[in-house]
Amino acid sequence: MSFRAHVTPLSLSDFKGVLVCFEDETPLQEAGQMRRDFVANVSHELRTPLTAMMGFIETLRGPARDDAGARDRFLGIMDREAHRMNRLVGDLLSLSRVESEERMRPTEAVDIAGSLRACISTLRPQAEARGVTIRMEGCDDSAVVPGDSHQLVQVFTNLIENAIKYGRKDSEVSVCITNHVLEPTLRGAALRIDIADQGEGISPVHIPRLTERFYRVDSHRSREMGGTGLGLAIVKHIVSRHRGRLRIESHAGQGSCFSVILPKE
Ligand code: ADP
Repeated sequence: MSFRAHVTPLSLSDFKGVLVCFEDETPLQEAGQMRRDFVANVSHELRTPLTAMMGFIETLRGPARDDAGARDRFLGIMDREAHRMNRLVGDLLSLSRVESEERMRPTEAVDIAGSLRACISTLRPQAEARGVTIRMEGCDDSAVVPGDSHQLVQVFTNLIENAIKYGRKDSEVSVCITNHVLEPTLRGAALRIDIADQGEGISPVHIPRLTERFYRVDSHRSREMGGTGLGLAIVKHIVSRHRGRLRIESHAGQGSCFSVILPKE
């Protein structure tokens, strides 16, 4: 803890003294530290692929100039890294937008089953490349919540994409909408969307930190799959903007289930 003292001399008719006020500066210092950590993380995330690309360019201009095999391999890696950097910049912009809009309540009526179907058809090629089948259950076409359709599509896309990436090859991802879930904390009817995979699961020690920016259980695996480490941070902010909840359940060796609970009113 850190305090700043403000000392003001006091001089009243029959009283002379000082007024000392103590101000707790801890929250300010923590916010400053978080900002510095964030800038350091972003710089690291951008510099690592840039350094690798600069190395490959140098090799292609020098020792590998006439090696067609090396040229194709290096260009493939550079292409992948450039796409990941592009995704990182996109995610940073999304995060900054959702953080600044967090206090504004969205009011559009969003068709949840339709939004999920749209996400699934966009992600189907990615799932097929890993032999993953996506199954949708409980498609209640009257499932509508007040929200921002673009942002909710981003939530479902991030969660289904993670289920594909971190699920086992040739496994199944299930997407399930449950109606009429009553959440006392949400004061009324809500809708729950469960996205479950058959991956390796996540150890309980990691679960509370998953929605922190750039927190990854396995950095190598995340980068290899083209991850930016910002997907769940974006999900958390969007769900909170919708006054919803994100629940994560995971069982080692069996898989994980990410549930989004959205109030209907
Ligand atoms: P990333 O771009 O790394 O996937 P996210 O913010 O989406 O970033 O997720 C943070 C981390 O949470 C991931 O790096 C991964 O370790 C873990 N994670 C997310 N979803 C799953 C899942 N369905 N199964 C196992 N681990 C997951």
